Amino acid sequence: MSFSTLGLCTELLSTVTEKGYSEPSPIQKNAIPAILNGRDVIAIAQTGTGKTASFSLPILQLLAEKPRQQEEGIRALILAPTRELAAQVAKNVETYSQNMNIRSTAVFGGVRIEPQKHALQQGVDILIATPGRLLDLYQQGDINVDNLEILVLDEADRMLDLGFVEHIQHLQSLLPEQRQTLLFSATFSKEIKTLATQMLKNPETIELATAHDHIENITQILHPVDKARKHELLIHLINNNDWSQILVFTRTKRGADTLRNELEALDIAAESIHANRTQQARTKALDGFRDGSIKVLIGTDLAARGIDIQQLPCVINIDLPYVPEDYIHRIGRTGRASSKGLAISLYSDDEAKQLRAVERFTGRQFKKTFVEGFIPKPKPKPAAATEEDALYGNFEADDKSQGKRKSKGRRKRR
Ligand code: AMP
Repeated sequence: MSFSTLGLCTELLSTVTEKGYSEPSPIQKNAIPAILNGRDVIAIAQTGTGKTASFSLPILQLLAEKPRQQEEGIRALILAPTRELAAQVAKNVETYSQNMNIRSTAVFGGVRIEPQKHALQQGVDILIATPGRLLDLYQQGDINVDNLEILVLDEADRMLDLGFVEHIQHLQSLLPEQRQTLLFSATFSKEIKTLATQMLKNPETIELATAHDHIENITQILHPVDKARKHELLIHLINNNDWSQILVFTRTKRGADTLRNELEALDIAAESIHANRTQQARTKALDGFRDGSIKVLIGTDLAARGIDIQQLPCVINIDLPYVPEDYIHRIGRTGRASSKGLAISLYSDDEAKQLRAVERFTGRQFKKTFVEGFIPKPKPKPAAATEEDALYGNFEADDKSQGKRKSKGRRKRR
């Protein structure tokens, strides 16, 4: 499915192409048409799912299609719990509206209010705000919400966690009743349901299965291996299993390209997708993977996001991601639609921190499975630093104390 089937205008279609989005993410597929139809929407979606574009793109289109009815006031308000999120959403809105005549700005606490007042005086169509600063500015007469057409509550669950419920209720009493309201939340708790009942009219609820929900279907394996032999082990696995296709994740763009070249040299049809490749090259790689002419698709986390590839038998992580959520996104590409999936991570001992983070995040301990011929070489034990260490063999403490002593020594010599 492409963005053009969602009913977006040409300006927005060229913007998403420029951003390198080849196809809409699941939340975008569902939310964009509903919002364009004027519906109130409750969407249960986490950060990283493409949720910002799922409300920003249709809002821009709705505003562009209908010229301003009144001279004064903001037309769309996006409420966000934190200034970081407000700034990030504002940046997205600005990028997506680059080919359109729509003005947006962000207001949030912790910075001077005067420049924000000045920006508001210039006239704003879309305002992105945190609740506290918004009400401050409203009370000082700097914001007019009388003609508001669309309200978005982004990360509504976090806004409730942060104690903004009264701010939101106060705001509700100030806004016109006749408006479109969109509520985005990572969870669908009782409190969120209550808030939705108070603020939305006959909403369409979009609740996509989260990646967490289906990892039960996935067999997860961890193969310890020396860092330098990871590609060799991957090739061994490809040659010794009859996987029709595999998706491989690497942390770096260079790693993805090096691996692709190595596989191609062995006549294994491979392609890479990452931010440094042109849109054309990425589309070609994906099309090749979809039609089966490419056996191995190698991607980085960012590039692989939003790509919907169904029914992959196997996902392989060349290295573990720094962000544990990415692990779930990666392995979520296999074991879909209740079919069994397989996720293999090649693990070298410099990744202990990432492994602990993934284990904490998924709530499950990995069993290490060694592959014959690829058992990692034991790390040389550091020499004992003191007589006491030698006697009690406290190697971990030994490591640290040696490191400290060495650096002190170096400083002294300089
Ligand atoms: P969000 O969930 O809104 O925080 O978005 C997460 C990331 O995904 C952002 O870096 C977006 O630029 C990116 N993104 C959003 N939509 C798509 C898409 N359809 N394809 C690829 N990346 C996307």
